[in-house]
Amino acid sequence: MTGLRGRTALVTGASRGLGRAIAQRLAADGASVVVHYGSNEAKAAETVAAITAAGGQAHAVRADLGKPDGVDKLFESIAAPLDIVVNNAAVFSPLFADTTPDDFDQVFAVNVKSPFFIIQRALPLMPDGSRIINVSSGVTWFAIPELAYAMTKGALNVLGRALANTLGDRQITVNTISPGITRSDMNDWLRDNPAAEQQVVGMVALGRVGEPEDIADAVSLVASGDARWITGEVIEVNGGLFLG
Ligand code: NDP
Repeated sequence: MTGLRGRTALVTGASRGLGRAIAQRLAADGASVVVHYGSNEAKAAETVAAITAAGGQAHAVRADLGKPDGVDKLFESIAAPLDIVVNNAAVFSPLFADTTPDDFDQVFAVNVKSPFFIIQRALPLMPDGSRIINVSSGVTWFAIPELAYAMTKGALNVLGRALANTLGDRQITVNTISPGITRSDMNDWLRDNPAAEQQVVGMVALGRVGEPEDIADAVSLVASGDARWITGEVIEVNGGLFLG
């Protein structure tokens, strides 16, 4: 696929997990990818190396999105045109009873405040017809005990819908990809735990745990030119989670 040749994409949290797969997929589609990471330089370098080994273009940019200057740092080296922004970086929160005000501020800073201001900063660099894609979660419609994390994803869903309306006159689409249970460091309870894996398999119509590539392919779909008429949507990408 070469549909994104000549385009530049920013993928936050692309050092690991879903973000890495998204960066690799958009690069395979032809985009030059800004591989953002928070602190894990070695993992970000692995993402860049995998992309360049496959013939793609990428470079890594470090910015701690939990810090007040995180978004400024991220944009120090990003220039126009920026055609695709994928807000993927996020952190999990403790259980409701254990969440301190600092935990709450941190999870909202990384998961909500940063995407909001990344988009604000990116828009002047984005041509008409660009793509904004936020990575949310199914935890907006099924209950988990880590309430602060779930609340951040609800905020992203609202952001996507309202922003799609605001940016429609520029033909910029804004969509929200909402993964189900997907193998990554965030789900370390699945690692070496066949019983947990079997439990997940039983909840999913398509009968397996999601892989980062399952999410990356969905991001590629909404990033493509063919998705020009899709905007303001929250797209569940979960293999049929809790269908009954
Ligand atoms: P991981 O924990 O595997 O990776 C998180 C990424 O975010 C890393 O690249 C990390 O960078 C970056 N990051 C974390 N904290 C910061 C920070 N303070 N500043 C900048 N970057 C930071 O997560 P996943 O790949 O599992 O999740 C990716 C997205 O998918 C998230 O939005 C998550 O909420 C969502 N999601 C995941 C699901 C799953 O089952 N895995 C299900 C539903 C949604 P570094 O490596 O440098 O630390």
